[in-house]
Amino acid sequence: MARIICICNQKGGVGKSATAINLASYLAAMSRSVLLIDTDPQANATSGMGIKAKREAENLYHTLLGQICIDNIIRKTKIFGCDIIPSCPDLAGTTVELIEADQREFRLKKSLESIKSQYDYILIDCPPSLDLLTINGLVAAKEVLIPVQCEYYALEGLSQLLNTIDLVKENLQENLEILGIVLTMFDRRNRLSHQVAKEVRRHFPGKVFEAVIPRSVSLAEAPSFGQSILQYAPESKGAKAYRLLAKEIIELEEKRKVNFSI
Ligand code: ATP
Ligand code: MG
Repeated sequence: MARIICICNQKGGVGKSATAINLASYLAAMSRSVLLIDTDPQANATSGMGIKAKREAENLYHTLLGQICIDNIIRKTKIFGCDIIPSCPDLAGTTVELIEADQREFRLKKSLESIKSQYDYILIDCPPSLDLLTINGLVAAKEVLIPVQCEYYALEGLSQLLNTIDLVKENLQENLEILGIVLTMFDRRNRLSHQVAKEVRRHFPGKVFEAVIPRSVSLAEAPSFGQSILQYAPESKGAKAYRLLAKEIIELEEKRKVNFSI
């Protein structure tokens, strides 16, 4: 069964989509089969993977509305082992359209039932809000990965996110857990970056990944070429950081297996 990881932070521009794209790519490069789901109508993860988000006849919107089976909307990416469910402009209407629908928070979870055995990892890139699309992502997932930008307001909004995660656990998905926090856009020449990183580690001991994603020109440029950092600049510091993150996430899985079998 796939490990389903929701990449979530309602704060905008913290590196959710960059993390989704690059983590998906490195997990695939490490021989894992990966499905990346872009639930953000902005479609940054979709375009960053080199896929055009167009208003197709069959898309995630129709699947969430129960009109089309999820198998029909999975597409291949240029990265071997990594598939994608692209975003589409229609998704912007989903929150409103589902407002009175039955089981509206469980739509994505239900859709994934039939395909989750086909993948090792399913990564969900969320929009920058705590709306119904994000809630669908959290309910469908088992784990939440929270990118936190090494900037002054980094911790602002994090308590609201943690409250939402608690509410989802209490009411909708009791098995949801926080996989960890990944520090993004770290600038080692900037004292503030170091302070924020320290502060986040102090607040969340044991929950912050060793891999710290640097602020890097290559990471900023790659999406405009529709490429992950693995394709665009595999020797860059940003590439190394995302590779390390993928490795840490895989290792956590291995550790759990060991604990389970003891
Ligand atoms: P949104 O909330 O709008 O969905 P997001 O949290 O998904 O944003 P990204 O789109 O990944 O954030 O990143 C925001 C911007 O910063 C993008 O232009 C992206 O290319 C750039 N970026 C992401 N990570 C880095 C990085 N480590 N170094 C430099 N630029 C980055
Ligand atoms: Mg995004």
